[in-house]
Amino acid sequence: MKPLALSLLLASVAFAQPGTTKEIAPGVWFRQAGPNEGCNHLVVEMKDYLAVVDASYPQGANALLADLKKLSPKPVRYVLLTHHHGDHTYGGAVWTRAGATTVAFAPLANEYKRLEPGRFQGAVKNRQDLAALRLEAPEPPKQVVSGGKFVLTDGRRKIEFRHYGWGHTRGDGYVYLPKEKIIATGDAAVNAPANFLSDSDLRNWPRILAKVEKLKLEQVAPGHGPLGKANVIAGQREFLSTLVREVDAARKAGKTLNDLVKIEGERPVSTTVRMPDSVKTWVGPRLPAQLQETWQQLAAAK
Ligand SMILES: [Zn+2]
Repeated sequence: MKPLALSLLLASVAFAQPGTTKEIAPGVWFRQAGPNEGCNHLVVEMKDYLAVVDASYPQGANALLADLKKLSPKPVRYVLLTHHHGDHTYGGAVWTRAGATTVAFAPLANEYKRLEPGRFQGAVKNRQDLAALRLEAPEPPKQVVSGGKFVLTDGRRKIEFRHYGWGHTRGDGYVYLPKEKIIATGDAAVNAPANFLSDSDLRNWPRILAKVEKLKLEQVAPGHGPLGKANVIAGQREFLSTLVREVDAARKAGKTLNDLVKIEGERPVSTTVRMPDSVKTWVGPRLPAQLQETWQQLAAAK
């Protein structure tokens, strides 16, 4: 291969790496989080400002801010928060100190009231970037949206921030660009074995994703993992539905959790459940724990 062709190839490979910000449509960028940074971001350029999806941890927020300095002279005016988890919200103060307004749906703000500052105080012990904020509690969203929709428009471009109810968390928000057919899903749809189920409603979550699938979609910007196509939503839905279906079937057959998940000490270590190949993107070492969580949630709901 000629040196120029090789360097172009390496440049394009490097561009798609985690920890880089990539333009995926005119004036729309996706940043896949680098190691330890937090979550992925979508950035949307409006006429006078930028809107960013998710605050990430401070480390991720600062990394994106540094990238944005090179990409656009416009200020970040809004940071749309997809859910309350720390890897998506704890960098909020970095953004508001830079002049942005953090925006979330009311159920997210309620989760902050219910769970914080407990979770933050746990996390701050393990993250220097959180300690460096010098806060006792994470900053709650500055603007709280009641109802299911918050729209930003400048006449040319439209951003629809949508809430469909309790799925991955009570306050899930999806950021949809109807013209560009792009959606940022937070962790309601990821593109990696990264599902966290503890704050979810596992029966409702796949139903919500079935609604999201009906949108016109070309690109899916997940909360974790690489940028994907529309089929990420269906795959995520199928993974969750399979967990629920397997646990429902086992309970109906009179089995116990131990028939499905081998637990050593307190830890779920393996499972007898075989997941279909079609959902392998979402299957990882946490599968036994995810089946245990599914079992516990469904059993508690009766
Ligand atoms: Zn996350």
